[in-house]
Amino acid sequence: MLLEDLRKLIAFPTVSNRPIRALASHLAERAEACGFQVSTYEDPQDSTKVNVVATIGPEDADGLILSGHMDVVPTENQPWESDPFCLSERDGLLYGRGTADMKGLIACCLHACDQIDLSKLTRQLVLIWTHDEEVGCRGSGLLAKALTESPRRLPTECLIGEPTDFQILHMHPGHVSLRIETRGESAHSSKPDLGASAIKAMQGVLAVCTQIEEELKSERRLEEALERPWVAFNIGQIQGGQAVNLVPDHCEILLGYRPLPGDNSTAVYDRIKQGLETLNLPKGTSISTSIRTLSPALMTPKGLALQEALSKHACVHELGAASFATDGGNLASLGIRSLIFGPGSIDVAHKANEYVSHDALLKGAKMVEAVIRERCL
Ligand SMILES: [Zn+2]
Repeated sequence: MLLEDLRKLIAFPTVSNRPIRALASHLAERAEACGFQVSTYEDPQDSTKVNVVATIGPEDADGLILSGHMDVVPTENQPWESDPFCLSERDGLLYGRGTADMKGLIACCLHACDQIDLSKLTRQLVLIWTHDEEVGCRGSGLLAKALTESPRRLPTECLIGEPTDFQILHMHPGHVSLRIETRGESAHSSKPDLGASAIKAMQGVLAVCTQIEEELKSERRLEEALERPWVAFNIGQIQGGQAVNLVPDHCEILLGYRPLPGDNSTAVYDRIKQGLETLNLPKGTSISTSIRTLSPALMTPKGLALQEALSKHACVHELGAASFATDGGNLASLGIRSLIFGPGSIDVAHKANEYVSHDALLKGAKMVEAVIRERCL
């Protein structure tokens, strides 16, 4: 029951800052009932966060991965016309947080698995449901790490069912966030010569970052595919000092940049570090840098068998680029090549009154069923 499945998924309020275990258990049980072997991977730092990997069919035959994230973005302070965690249908549209991004596709996968005799699969079918995608693809990052440490055989092609209005997307930029701290020595502002200002040291850091931001803007690549064909860069937060009459001993900035498809994720980070090494820092101050989150960019080659299977259901025949990051960047580190394709529109995701149309959901379920039959039967 497609709608019933979606209703249940939406009712789990799996906003990224809340536990996800209950939904993970539901999806694990749902997969087991279809005959899948299920493994769960717990976040080593937070036992309420779990990734689910369910497999069925012969492992030695390369088949298909279907993947989606279980978490959703917050709903507070948004003008919802109905309870965001209670699926409601109005004029053929199904409203609720996650209907488009991306519990709709998860429901389509469950429904498709119910329609097929999975004991007859000749190639492996795997479901990967991740946590914390919306906060820097953290769940898939942890899963990729766990699977690198204890490898298992998985198919090499993956459908990530983000809402793309049935256009196949094969690349997207990544996102890397950094913290840069400067430290100095505190002193009373009447005797500033006894201290060392961390804010003055930060001025140099800001100058280096601004210079790199300008350089990146001029290094345009992939102009035909991307709306913004350069590494976007943003210093998003700054904090420093304690009082107007104290020389500040600490200042920090948080900044993010978006590596282009095919880029090494840490190339810009290395460039910033090199730039900072050339700074003439005020005496008594120092700088430290660290990566906070890292979701790699995605660049899947054209011509996968999965692309051929999806193209029969695509509204647009050109392969496109997503503006948003997905779990595909992390899965690529395991040799998994992902295409992004699914019902619903990214334009309604993350907003009040998020919806997927009933028709698109039905089409999604038929699409998943057809793709499993084509790739795994
Ligand atoms: Zn999403």
